Amino acid sequence: MTVSLDLTAEGARDALRRTMQAEKPSLIGLTRAELGTALVEAGIVPERQARMRVQQLWHWMYVRGVSDFAHMFNISKDLRAELDKHFTVARPEIVEEQISADGTRKWLFRFPPRGAGRPVEIETVYIPEEGRGTLCISSQVGCTLTCSFCHTGTQKLVRNLTAEEILAQLLTARDRLGDFPDRDTPDGAIVPAEGRKISNIVMMGMGEPLYNFEAVKKALLIASDGDGLSLSKRRITLSTSGVVPEIFRTGEEIGVMLAISLHATNDDLRDLLVPINKKFPLKDLIAACKAYPGLSNAKRITFEYVMLKDVNDSLEDAKALVKLLKGIPAKINLIPFNPWPGTNYQCSDWETIEKFADYINNAGYASPIRTPRGRDILAACGQLKSESERMRKVDRLALEAMMIAGHGEA
Ligand code: SAH
Ligand code: SF4
Repeated sequence: MTVSLDLTAEGARDALRRTMQAEKPSLIGLTRAELGTALVEAGIVPERQARMRVQQLWHWMYVRGVSDFAHMFNISKDLRAELDKHFTVARPEIVEEQISADGTRKWLFRFPPRGAGRPVEIETVYIPEEGRGTLCISSQVGCTLTCSFCHTGTQKLVRNLTAEEILAQLLTARDRLGDFPDRDTPDGAIVPAEGRKISNIVMMGMGEPLYNFEAVKKALLIASDGDGLSLSKRRITLSTSGVVPEIFRTGEEIGVMLAISLHATNDDLRDLLVPINKKFPLKDLIAACKAYPGLSNAKRITFEYVMLKDVNDSLEDAKALVKLLKGIPAKINLIPFNPWPGTNYQCSDWETIEKFADYINNAGYASPIRTPRGRDILAACGQLKSESERMRKVDRLALEAMMIAGHGEA
């Protein structure tokens, strides 16, 4: 059973308001210092009050999850009106919300155009499990990289998401799940029995987070801020295909858990599966992992390994994997390949996956096989894709070069 909620009526009602809101800058995603400056520069808060106002707003936006200045009750009516004149804290439009039989939810969000661009749509997925709820967040619209087994890599439109848009995914998901104080969880929703509905974040949605470093950093520092959204950095995992020059900074400046999309143990195969390997080969990737700040047995790197039938799933591959990771505090996540329309790959047989997992377990690695979730709504890893056209290869390469040159600040 798949449920798809039609939110267009609500969307239509809010369309005009949203268009107007989109023209106002959002206060979501600003650092405290930027927030203070924005208030002072707008001429609505005197400099000496800035700190106090920032604290109040921070609390309303990130602890209470308020998306309308009108509900910020300890701020005077006049100031609320001024804030509303200049800024917004509104949520993006939810184009669609799909709920899988297993409780997985997938949202399609639409963000307003930036500059001369056009509106973009991205997907965010919620995966409830026993004792935890994980939100899989996107960092880009599409992806410039072209991992051959990944659906997102075939998407035409590509741009970086802003820090506001990255955080908006978390805030809106928490709205929909009733995960802010004094909010109700929707009837019948599958969520952890206790604690937060969203207890973990993985940057494993659409896009390569390390091609959008600054925005991802800002968003994750706000998500983990102890006076706000307050998610522990140990419960935030950033997954990269291997943008080696940014890996050290990820540990140093963001301090979250790292996952590497490894998928192959030799350069020849990895060049085919994860083409960024041609720029940053395995030797460099492994060296960057060994140097990851804070790495210890209590803080391991997760290596993701997608199981592709007759491609990377032999016992020889398992042996090579154990050898490659020797000396790195590591977890290995075996991901059964999730097929999508038009792919030439197949998922390994279950027996093969189990044999592979057994070898790895015997070598001392806890290697859970990640059960595919939300396959019925195309919400599983690598199935995310909000647009169906393929980008021409030459355009993609040009764009990728641009993103790398500016570290993704395109
Ligand atoms: N761009 C980042 C994060 C997003 S992809 C990265 O590549 O790490 C999240 C994970 O899903 C990655 O490990 C990716 O390799 C994996 N993935 C992509 N397509 C998949 C598919 N069709 N089936 C299973 N896993 C897939
Ligand atoms: Fe991009 Fe990650 Fe998909 Fe590769 S696996 S195309 S890096 S989203």
